[in-house]
Amino acid sequence: MHYDVAVVGAGVAGSCAAFAAAKRGLSVVLLEKEALPRYKLCGGAVTRKTMELLAGEGIRLPAKLFHEVRKVRVKIPGAEREIDIAEGDILTTYRDVLDYALAKEADRAGAEVRDATRVKGVKRGRGGYLIKTECGDVSAKFVIGCDGVSSVVRKYLFGWRFPPGEVGVAAEYEVPGLSLDAMEIHFGHASFSYTWAFPKAEGATIGVAELASRLKESIVSRLESFASTLPYVDPSALPPAKAHLIPMGGIRRKVASPRALLAGDAAGFVDPLSGEGTYYAALSGIKAAQFVNEAFNGKEENLLAYQSFCDRELLPELRAMLYLGRLFYFNLDFSYHLFKNSDVLLSVISALGKGEPKPREILRRAIIYSLRSLPGYLASRVGLLR
Ligand SMILES: Cc1cc2nc3c(=O)[nH]c(=O)nc-3n(C[C@H](O)[C@H](O)[C@H](O)COP(=O)(O)OP(=O)(O)OC[C@H]3O[C@@H](n4cnc5c(N)ncnc54)[C@H](O)[C@@H]3O)c2cc1C
Repeated sequence: MHYDVAVVGAGVAGSCAAFAAAKRGLSVVLLEKEALPRYKLCGGAVTRKTMELLAGEGIRLPAKLFHEVRKVRVKIPGAEREIDIAEGDILTTYRDVLDYALAKEADRAGAEVRDATRVKGVKRGRGGYLIKTECGDVSAKFVIGCDGVSSVVRKYLFGWRFPPGEVGVAAEYEVPGLSLDAMEIHFGHASFSYTWAFPKAEGATIGVAELASRLKESIVSRLESFASTLPYVDPSALPPAKAHLIPMGGIRRKVASPRALLAGDAAGFVDPLSGEGTYYAALSGIKAAQFVNEAFNGKEENLLAYQSFCDRELLPELRAMLYLGRLFYFNLDFSYHLFKNSDVLLSVISALGKGEPKPREILRRAIIYSLRSLPGYLASRVGLLR
């Protein structure tokens, strides 16, 4: 069967792309390798801007899918601070449940959702692409690759992969029945990332991430040693850990060709400081569908304008967070000094939840604040040396 667009992968990016393309009248097939609902390793934190984006596109999600976070607790070695979160700024969810609801929305918009259909390869054919799946071939004029960090579409049509310095390795325990009064973020257990304990509706998710190029031991042993520091965790009662890769955004990559696009993790669109990927997956998926629709209706000759959009709108935000991360992890002693003596880190967390100010403004303020604080920090360290 021939479709206007084939979307590969029914995660957040894929179901949003399929919904947005079908809503605009295109014939859409959404190809997912797993049977839905499928498990997806994720902290499941969803910010206000994501919910606003989905609602603005017309995607309806029941409130019962989400758990409200009203407090974030940040811990560094020797200190701890808390910040109150406004209602709706930060929610958590289970990704199997969220992604299934999104796939049903794509179906409601008119997309044909085919789960348990792994894509094995993609090649250019007459009038578009031939997509080889475990359940037969599919042809489509356009392809949107939303098949995650190890994307098959990217491999066959774009030919690049993430080098170890541009991808994180993460592991989590999904602990049913564990009740937490706050979302916890811990520093000091990873060299270029944080560790976390996120409250969810029916338990909590405990996780760790580290840049692949800096990982000297197994990520699961890193997770085990982090979990053993948590007073509310019984290590003998933990479920098996699961691990997954997480791309680092903020680096320019090829995400558009004349008739094929990449979105979400397949394109590397993840905030490299917070690890927030669902917002960028939803945004890039919806935008990819809009560009496909314009190309289909002859307003654009091809899909290359999507690359310009990503370079102009997404890359600067993600790059600002990359630089903010480098600033933070460059000298943890200085960063911890700022944390103890100011609200600067807590205000970054609050801004991520609210979606305001934008990352570039957050980075600008953080640089100014760091420069202003440097003399006091150096004086305190010289005082320590005497
Ligand atoms: C441990 C961890 C914690 C995280 N925590 C958070 C968080 O709290 N908040 C947040 O915003 N982000 C978080 N992220 C990032 C977030 O999970 C991702 O950025 C997001 O899932 C990207 O969505 P996606 O749709 O692009 O890809 P995915 O969710 O990975 O979906 C890709 C889909 O493609 C399918 N697929 C793959 N290959 C094929 C194939 N060959 N054929 C057909 N289908 C295929 C997969 O089965 C999958 O369903 C976390 C990531 C990790 C690893």
